[in-house]
Amino acid sequence: PFDVLIVGGGPAGAAAAVYAARKGIRTGVASERFGGQVLDTLGIENFISIKETEGPKFAHALEEHVRDYDVDIMNLQRAKALVPGKDLIEVQLESGASLKSKSIIISTGARWRNINVPGEHEFKNKGVAYCPHCDGPLFKGKRVAVIGGGNSGVEAAIDLAGIVGHVTLIEFDTALRADAVLQRKLKSLKNVDVFTNAQTTEITGDQKVNGLVYKDCATGELKKVELEGVFIQIGLVPNTDWLKGVVELTKHGEIVVDARGQTSVPGVFAAGDVTTVPFKQIIIAAGDGAKAALGAFDHLIRTSAP
Ligand code: FAD
Repeated sequence: PFDVLIVGGGPAGAAAAVYAARKGIRTGVASERFGGQVLDTLGIENFISIKETEGPKFAHALEEHVRDYDVDIMNLQRAKALVPGKDLIEVQLESGASLKSKSIIISTGARWRNINVPGEHEFKNKGVAYCPHCDGPLFKGKRVAVIGGGNSGVEAAIDLAGIVGHVTLIEFDTALRADAVLQRKLKSLKNVDVFTNAQTTEITGDQKVNGLVYKDCATGELKKVELEGVFIQIGLVPNTDWLKGVVELTKHGEIVVDARGQTSVPGVFAAGDVTTVPFKQIIIAAGDGAKAALGAFDHLIRTSAP
């Protein structure tokens, strides 16, 4: 069995693996796609000490760093169940195999909810974006739309309004759902238009995004907005389906963790986008993975026989 088994090989899992391995304990990483969301990222400009890099290059560097240590890397493995036990915790894989470990770190990440309209997939990284902290500066002085009027959408619109030239916020519902304080702030901004009761039907473009079409649900009329970027903010879904009923989750499906990354199950830790940790970013996930590995090590020295 492993001392620490990490499930998920994104920035959080990779950092956890390096920190665990450096303690000289038996460490394994099982993941579907080593690199995680970083593999889908074009440019990264906010990982401190690396001025600029590309997602796949960064993902490769993560794996190289982990391979420098004695870590059992099991790629293309999808976990389907977690079975807590007294001494050993079991992770069952979709391949039919099962792995056992004294402690577990879950770092299965999250995925942005897609809006599934024509143009979204085609123009991903060509004007269609999901993360204002990451991609906002790419649209300096330009026109963008934010789709989604919940807290994340309204926060994104306020954030972007300070960087870009103009923001159009589009909400499908008849009213915004964000906190009142955010809505007040949004309304005070001169370069923001808000359309509610508006259903986005298409993102248009040539090589890059050049506009967006929405249906005014009151009249049924289709309207076009010319712009250079679209931020989709309709939710971030944690990859925790396989943990329901076993580990405590919030109503949004995030794993509840304490300051050391400990979950509701003794010996099971979690890190990164899959948890309640606020702000989903590479540097935050990596730091969180390091923290969970140290949390797991601390747990092991208190509970394992010498
Ligand atoms: P993830 O990166 O999501 O990794 C999860 C890992 O778990 C993967 O290896 C996955 O295959 C695996 N996995 C999932 N389910 C299972 C399962 N059941 N069994 C086994 N393995 C599983 N952040 C920045 O800081 N800067 C940026 O510029 C930036 N740009 C971004 C651009 C895009 C398009 C996207 C989508 C995100 C971007 N982010 C950026 C956010 C950043 O990528 C995430 O915050 C970060 O990757 C989270 O790391 P993580 O390790 O928690 O999870």
